[in-house]
Amino acid sequence: MFAHIRLRAKLLLPLGAAVLFFPAALLLCFRCGNQTDPVGAERRNAVAAGQTTGNAAQALPPRNKTDEGNTRTVPVLMYHSVCDHPTARSVYILSPAAFREDLRYLSVHGYQTVFLRDLLAFAGGTGTLPEKPVVLTFDDGFYNNLTNVLPLLKEADAKAELNIVGRYADNAGKEQYRSPDYSYLTWEEIRTLQGSGRFEIGSHTYDMHALSPRNGCAREKGESDEAYENALKADAAAMREAMLREQTDATLIFAYPYGAKSRNTQTILEQAGFTVFLTCDERLNVLSKNSPLPPLCRINRTAALTTEEFMKKNGIG
Ligand SMILES: [Zn+2]
Repeated sequence: MFAHIRLRAKLLLPLGAAVLFFPAALLLCFRCGNQTDPVGAERRNAVAAGQTTGNAAQALPPRNKTDEGNTRTVPVLMYHSVCDHPTARSVYILSPAAFREDLRYLSVHGYQTVFLRDLLAFAGGTGTLPEKPVVLTFDDGFYNNLTNVLPLLKEADAKAELNIVGRYADNAGKEQYRSPDYSYLTWEEIRTLQGSGRFEIGSHTYDMHALSPRNGCAREKGESDEAYENALKADAAAMREAMLREQTDATLIFAYPYGAKSRNTQTILEQAGFTVFLTCDERLNVLSKNSPLPPLCRINRTAALTTEEFMKKNGIG
């Protein structure tokens, strides 16, 4: 009987702590102007779907010294907003100082940033990768990726991915007041980042970055195959049209909002022309030459840990 009560208390205590903590984290996201809380939601969805391992280091295979460059272990890190606003210190919004420290850590440990198209060429047998490649991805298209991230990438001679939401870029161009703490990038600014040679642009949907009526671009409950396919194709077509109009090339890479997807999501997106898929499964990727590029796992860079704690926890060293 007492053992039973103790067991229940054991289960309920962490739950109580989570209930107390979660609104605080959400509030901080809201205060940074991240009104749909895409960052927290992305993480929560991944957890709900059982997609996080908690410790990616456990999934790391031993390095093979004799593999002659045919396989690579590739960490793909997921960032969002990088700003210094005093109320922005949530577990999902990183300070520029912490991002600079990440870049320094990766460089000191021999990592070299590469684009996703480099991974694609390696997998296709037409390109090579450095011994320790790493991919940095930025979701949602925050204005501070231009004001805060680009200068740090230049300083470290590094490169990154930018996964934009078409509708956010359309709306950003109409805003009268803009701030690195909460605004999104305009198309003109996205072109600036693309032209810098430091960013490769990807799609984060045109207008499916929301938790309702559907979860990101996943199929709605009860939705027919045909209705779902039409909705996803229409969004992909809207993105393609916007990119053509705005001279932005984001036709290759697709990052699932909140990591949410359904059985046939990837097939429909492949038919729409996308080739590289980014998930929120938190593991390292092991890629092989002459083997199709799998959907890539990404590890969310939480601000709750120092650079060293985060990297070591995830087997990056
Ligand atoms: Zn997102």
